[in-house]
Amino acid sequence: MEPVRCYIGLGSNLEDPVWQVQTALKELSKLNQCSLVRASSLYRSAPVGPQDQPDFINAVVALDTTLEAHALLDQLQALEQSHRRVRKRHWGPRTLDLDLLLYGTEQISTERLTVPHAFMHERSFVLYPLHEISPELIFPDDTLLSQLLVACPMGTLAKI
Ligand code: AMP
Repeated sequence: MEPVRCYIGLGSNLEDPVWQVQTALKELSKLNQCSLVRASSLYRSAPVGPQDQPDFINAVVALDTTLEAHALLDQLQALEQSHRRVRKRHWGPRTLDLDLLLYGTEQISTERLTVPHAFMHERSFVLYPLHEISPELIFPDDTLLSQLLVACPMGTLAKI
Protein backbone atom coordinates (compact mmCIF):
# COMPACT_ATOMS: atom_id res chain seq x y z
CA MET A 1 0.00 0.00 0.00
CA GLU A 2 1.26 3.47 -0.88
CA PRO A 3 1.56 5.77 2.14
CA VAL A 4 -1.44 8.01 2.71
CA ARG A 5 -0.92 11.58 3.95
CA CYS A 6 -3.15 12.15 6.93
CA TYR A 7 -3.64 14.87 9.50
CA ILE A 8 -4.21 14.37 13.21
CA GLY A 9 -5.42 16.91 15.75
CA LEU A 10 -4.16 16.81 19.33
CA GLY A 11 -5.80 18.47 22.32
CA SER A 12 -5.49 18.45 26.10
CA ASN A 13 -6.65 20.59 28.99
CA LEU A 14 -5.75 18.43 31.98
CA GLU A 15 -2.73 17.14 33.86
CA ASP A 16 -0.04 19.37 32.36
CA PRO A 17 -1.50 19.79 28.86
CA VAL A 18 1.75 21.02 27.30
CA TRP A 19 3.50 17.85 28.49
CA GLN A 20 0.58 15.72 27.27
CA VAL A 21 0.75 17.16 23.78
CA GLN A 22 4.55 17.17 23.54
CA THR A 23 4.69 13.55 24.69
CA ALA A 24 1.95 12.56 22.26
CA LEU A 25 3.90 14.20 19.40
CA LYS A 26 6.89 11.99 20.21
CA GLU A 27 4.67 8.92 20.49
CA LEU A 28 2.99 9.66 17.15
CA SER A 29 6.43 9.90 15.53
CA LYS A 30 7.15 6.33 16.70
CA LEU A 31 3.92 4.65 15.57
CA ASN A 32 4.37 1.54 13.42
CA GLN A 33 3.83 2.02 9.70
CA CYS A 34 3.71 5.78 10.20
CA SER A 35 6.20 8.54 9.60
CA LEU A 36 5.78 12.01 10.98
CA VAL A 37 6.01 14.59 8.21
CA ARG A 38 5.43 17.87 10.08
CA ALA A 39 4.16 19.04 13.44
CA SER A 40 2.65 22.45 14.13
CA SER A 41 3.53 24.72 17.01
CA LEU A 42 1.53 24.33 20.18
CA TYR A 43 -1.48 26.64 20.51
CA ARG A 44 -3.51 27.72 23.51
CA SER A 45 -7.24 28.50 23.39
CA ALA A 46 -10.09 29.09 25.79
CA PRO A 47 -12.45 26.11 26.07
CA VAL A 48 -15.53 25.98 23.88
CA GLY A 49 -18.67 25.68 26.02
CA PRO A 50 -18.30 25.70 29.83
CA GLN A 51 -15.64 28.22 30.83
CA ASP A 52 -14.93 26.74 34.29
CA GLN A 53 -12.20 24.48 32.95
CA PRO A 54 -8.57 25.11 31.99
CA ASP A 55 -7.46 26.40 28.59
CA PHE A 56 -6.74 23.86 25.91
CA ILE A 57 -3.40 23.15 24.30
CA ASN A 58 -3.73 22.04 20.66
CA ALA A 59 -1.50 21.03 17.79
CA VAL A 60 -1.81 19.16 14.51
CA VAL A 61 0.53 16.80 12.69
CA ALA A 62 0.88 15.53 9.16
CA LEU A 63 1.64 11.83 9.10
CA ASP A 64 2.28 9.43 6.23
CA THR A 65 0.90 5.99 6.97
CA THR A 66 0.43 2.60 5.36
CA LEU A 67 -2.21 1.76 8.00
CA GLU A 68 -5.82 1.56 6.92
CA ALA A 69 -7.89 4.36 8.48
CA HIS A 70 -9.56 2.21 11.16
CA ALA A 71 -6.23 0.61 12.09
CA LEU A 72 -4.81 4.10 12.49
CA LEU A 73 -7.79 5.03 14.70
CA ASP A 74 -6.99 1.94 16.83
CA GLN A 75 -3.45 3.25 17.31
CA LEU A 76 -4.70 6.73 18.20
CA GLN A 77 -7.18 5.35 20.72
CA ALA A 78 -4.47 3.17 22.30
CA LEU A 79 -2.35 6.31 22.73
CA GLU A 80 -5.28 8.14 24.31
CA GLN A 81 -5.75 5.22 26.72
CA SER A 82 -2.10 5.20 27.72
CA HIS A 83 -2.34 8.89 28.61
CA ARG A 84 -5.46 8.28 30.63
CA ARG A 85 -3.60 5.73 32.71
CA VAL A 86 -1.26 8.49 33.88
CA ARG A 87 -4.19 9.99 35.73
CA LYS A 88 -5.07 9.11 39.32
CA ARG A 89 -8.84 9.08 38.93
CA HIS A 90 -10.43 6.30 36.93
CA TRP A 91 -13.01 8.30 35.02
CA GLY A 92 -13.29 11.93 34.21
CA PRO A 93 -12.28 14.42 31.56
CA ARG A 94 -9.65 13.19 29.17
CA THR A 95 -6.03 14.19 29.26
CA LEU A 96 -5.46 13.65 25.57
CA ASP A 97 -7.79 13.83 22.60
CA LEU A 98 -6.54 12.60 19.22
CA ASP A 99 -8.72 13.19 16.17
CA LEU A 100 -8.15 11.81 12.70
CA LEU A 101 -8.87 14.98 10.76
CA LEU A 102 -8.07 13.90 7.21
CA TYR A 103 -7.02 10.60 5.66
CA GLY A 104 -5.72 11.36 2.20
CA THR A 105 -8.64 12.49 0.08
CA GLU A 106 -10.99 9.88 1.49
CA GLN A 107 -14.43 10.59 2.85
CA ILE A 108 -15.25 7.97 5.46
CA SER A 109 -18.52 7.45 7.26
CA THR A 110 -18.72 4.39 9.51
CA GLU A 111 -19.92 3.74 13.05
CA ARG A 112 -16.44 4.48 14.41
CA LEU A 113 -15.10 6.99 12.00
CA THR A 114 -16.18 10.20 10.31
CA VAL A 115 -13.51 11.70 8.05
CA PRO A 116 -13.04 14.58 7.47
CA HIS A 117 -13.59 15.02 11.19
CA ALA A 118 -16.96 16.65 12.00
CA PHE A 119 -16.75 20.40 12.69
CA MET A 120 -13.04 20.64 11.82
CA HIS A 121 -13.87 23.13 9.08
CA GLU A 122 -15.07 25.68 11.65
CA ARG A 123 -12.64 25.18 14.54
CA SER A 124 -9.87 27.76 14.79
CA PHE A 125 -7.68 25.42 16.90
CA VAL A 126 -7.67 22.96 13.98
CA LEU A 127 -7.59 25.29 10.97
CA TYR A 128 -4.80 27.67 12.06
CA PRO A 129 -2.33 24.93 13.07
CA LEU A 130 -3.18 23.11 9.81
CA HIS A 131 -2.43 26.27 7.88
CA GLU A 132 0.92 26.58 9.62
CA ILE A 133 2.06 23.15 8.39
CA SER A 134 0.13 22.88 5.13
CA PRO A 135 -1.06 26.25 3.79
CA GLU A 136 -2.05 24.81 0.40
CA LEU A 137 -4.25 22.06 1.88
CA ILE A 138 -7.38 21.13 -0.06
CA PHE A 139 -10.22 19.16 1.52
CA PRO A 140 -11.77 16.05 -0.11
CA ASP A 141 -14.74 18.16 -1.24
CA ASP A 142 -12.29 20.57 -2.97
CA THR A 143 -12.69 23.32 -0.36
CA LEU A 144 -9.46 25.25 0.16
CA LEU A 145 -8.15 25.53 3.71
CA SER A 146 -7.37 29.17 2.98
CA GLN A 147 -11.06 29.80 2.17
CA LEU A 148 -12.17 28.30 5.48
CA LEU A 149 -9.70 30.45 7.39
CA VAL A 150 -11.23 33.63 6.02
CA ALA A 151 -14.54 32.65 7.67
CA CYS A 152 -12.94 31.53 10.95
CA PRO A 153 -11.73 34.21 13.37
CA MET A 154 -8.73 33.28 15.52
CA GLY A 155 -10.71 34.16 18.66
CA THR A 156 -8.67 33.36 21.76
CA LEU A 157 -6.28 31.09 19.88
CA ALA A 158 -2.60 31.96 20.35
CA LYS A 159 0.63 30.24 19.45
CA ILE A 160 2.70 29.44 22.52
P1 AMP B 1 -14.48 12.16 21.29
O1 AMP B 1 -14.23 11.62 22.62
O2 AMP B 1 -15.51 13.24 21.26
O3 AMP B 1 -13.20 12.56 20.57
O4 AMP B 1 -15.08 10.98 20.43
C1 AMP B 1 -14.47 9.73 20.35
C2 AMP B 1 -15.31 8.87 19.42
O5 AMP B 1 -15.39 9.47 18.15
C3 AMP B 1 -14.74 7.49 19.21
O6 AMP B 1 -15.73 6.56 19.55
C4 AMP B 1 -14.44 7.40 17.73
O7 AMP B 1 -14.77 6.15 17.20
C5 AMP B 1 -15.31 8.50 17.15
N1 AMP B 1 -14.80 9.14 15.93
C6 AMP B 1 -15.52 9.34 14.81
N2 AMP B 1 -14.78 9.95 13.88
C7 AMP B 1 -13.55 10.15 14.41
C8 AMP B 1 -12.36 10.74 13.92
N3 AMP B 1 -12.28 11.25 12.68
N4 AMP B 1 -11.27 10.77 14.74
C9 AMP B 1 -11.37 10.27 16.00
N5 AMP B 1 -12.47 9.70 16.53
C10 AMP B 1 -13.56 9.63 15.74
